[in-house]
Amino acid sequence: MKRRKFIQSAALTGLGLTVGTAFAACTDTQEQEKKNKSATSNSNMEPSTPMVIATWNVPNATTKAWEVLQEGKSALDAVEQGVMVEEADEKNQSVGKGGLPDRDGNVTLDACIMNKDGNYGAVVCIENIKHPIAVARKVMENTPHVLLAGNGAKQFAIESGFTPEDLLTESSKKAWEEWKIKSEYKPIINIENHDTIGMLAIDKNGDISGACTTSGLAYKMQGRVGDSAIIGSGLFVDNEVGGATATGMGEEVLKTVGSFLIVELMRQGKSPQEACEEAVKRVVKKSPNYKDFQVGYIAVNKKGETGAYCIHEWFNYTVYKNNENKNYKSDFYNK
Ligand code: ASP
Repeated sequence: MKRRKFIQSAALTGLGLTVGTAFAACTDTQEQEKKNKSATSNSNMEPSTPMVIATWNVPNATTKAWEVLQEGKSALDAVEQGVMVEEADEKNQSVGKGGLPDRDGNVTLDACIMNKDGNYGAVVCIENIKHPIAVARKVMENTPHVLLAGNGAKQFAIESGFTPEDLLTESSKKAWEEWKIKSEYKPIINIENHDTIGMLAIDKNGDISGACTTSGLAYKMQGRVGDSAIIGSGLFVDNEVGGATATGMGEEVLKTVGSFLIVELMRQGKSPQEACEEAVKRVVKKSPNYKDFQVGYIAVNKKGETGAYCIHEWFNYTVYKNNENKNYKSDFYNK
């Protein structure tokens, strides 16, 4: 099939798109499964603050956030500095520098941040800036706007002191060149390693903030923006209730406004676990092709109780609390 025709037929429902993952980095599926199996079961419901929770197995990111909290700094500082660890890690091919590019070879990043007062800042489709989360924070704090896109976001970043650089690493370029040979848009749902990094933290004052950062779907159409930087979809925080964040097929999270839904369900009295389960089931109910893509959510409420749920097995998440940094395997729908 000719490329353009394929793009038309691969409507953005999840069919035919690789969920923005460390696709190339995880060619060794068995190795990944072994790592995932070492994750402990989803038994992490005990309330505790201060705390940090993040999507996927990101112990360095949660450690950084925990250290920031221990210094007595805010949850906002913690989530920003925590996810920056992954943005800077070139081996992580779904976030920041080294992220897999779009179909035309451009690395475009989406990120957003929310603070305890319900303020939000975001950038979408930004290029050449390694730390989109820090730019998102500056959008929130230093502009009258909440979301900047593309060139405007990049210009704002440069004016704010960020140095532009090439984000396409040799190994991501190689993966893209290999992908171009067949240009197959097939979702690979069970080899996710470091997908989008969503992080929620509660600081010593009991205040909640969240951050979410991604290079989005690998080999997406140019200009495509997913859920990660869109308020209520990839991330939502209400300091009276709790927070939630998402990973996986952004189009499906956007259509069901997943993170907002989870926070509203918690407001109505559901536990973070029950709320995550209902949000995943909403996606499943609305999408007959749910077997073709992954969506995973994590959530925390004001008490520091956590929840996580996903469609397919092997989504996992990391929690730092009570001086312990642990990775947990999420419960899942498709059993
Ligand atoms: N949610 C991200 C997006 O759709 C990708 C991912 O988490 O895999 O852009």
